[in-house]
Amino acid sequence: MSNANRYTGLVDRYRDRLPVSATTRAISLGEGNTPLIKLENIPRIIGKDVEIYVKYEGLNPTGSFKDRGMTMAVTKAVEEGSKAIICASTGNTSAAAAAYAARAGIKAFVLIPEGKIAMGKMAQAMMYGAITMQIRGNFDDGMRLVKEVADQAPVTIVNSINPYRLQGQKTIAYEIVEALGRAPDYHCLPVGNAGNITAHWMGYTEAVANQPADQFEQVIYDAATDQFTGPKPEGLPTMVGYQASGAAPFLRGAPVESPETVATAIRIGNPQSWNHAKAVVRDSKGWFDELQDSEILEAQRLLSMYEGVFVEPASAASIGGAIRDIKAGKIAEGSVIVCTVTGNGLKDPDTAIKQCADAVMLSIDATMDQVKDSILSNM
Ligand SMILES: *Cc1c(COP(=O)(O)O)cnc(C)c1O
Repeated sequence: MSNANRYTGLVDRYRDRLPVSATTRAISLGEGNTPLIKLENIPRIIGKDVEIYVKYEGLNPTGSFKDRGMTMAVTKAVEEGSKAIICASTGNTSAAAAAYAARAGIKAFVLIPEGKIAMGKMAQAMMYGAITMQIRGNFDDGMRLVKEVADQAPVTIVNSINPYRLQGQKTIAYEIVEALGRAPDYHCLPVGNAGNITAHWMGYTEAVANQPADQFEQVIYDAATDQFTGPKPEGLPTMVGYQASGAAPFLRGAPVESPETVATAIRIGNPQSWNHAKAVVRDSKGWFDELQDSEILEAQRLLSMYEGVFVEPASAASIGGAIRDIKAGKIAEGSVIVCTVTGNGLKDPDTAIKQCADAVMLSIDATMDQVKDSILSNM
């Protein structure tokens, strides 16, 4: 039986543009290759002539884009002989780390803020068999501890400060450019630790420069010069990063001491890729903006109710922000816009159910009359 057409994940798919060799064993769960869904109803509802697509990263194997980075980080950790990985997480990195460690047969240690991660993500870390440390502190405290302990114990850090994470995550832009035949005019996404906005930019630059593989030139952020290396093609998107108002260091211009937001995936006060993300926004002539929690939840509901796309709160910041900027004319009519919706709505059922107090949920007897009445009175 031939397996030639079986999709086996993004390391295999983009081997010639990733820092792996022809023989590197990919640790994969078939991540990537996610749908780019064109919104049908929201542009009409907001009354604007725009093409909006959502890149539905919630359909990755563990339900978020973190799988793109984790397949690369764990592939390289295993190649280099590591027996254990560690991360600090607001939930999705720990879920991905735990799953890919299970797949590779190595240990995963995860530090999460006690009581502040969504239920689905908690279930994942436990099911995949990670050793979970709930810390009485936030993500930024966890990140600091992970960096310190990696010098004292034989563990590989798989947070996005691990450069292989961004290498995996850049493939999202490859897929978008392949699907649209060009880069969008605007790319909107939520920003927490700011690794993903950096990875998007690296990927777009590489994809649009579009060299043949044998002269492929990699793009990375060079801290010494505060520049991205490599080609500078025309036709790159304007990058727009949205933060939650209670966790918006890029809007404040400094780290935020005690970040707070319902969008727990971006509840981060001290982004590790600060300079990278500033350079992305500078080079793409983009901007950062912030949303109140109420705006984030409204956008989450809108995307579910009018497009059938259920994402977690952090992910909805991209669509909420984009709609606001389209309405304000900051994003012009006629534009092609892609929003990364970073994680699956099923990750955080508690927040979803809480805001659906007005959902139609009838309690009836098991009789034909009551079922029929329920239909007719709700048509
Ligand atoms: C990690 C994460 C983000 C933030 O990505 P950064 O690279 O940290 O900016 C946004 N949404 C979801 C669902 C995430 O898991």
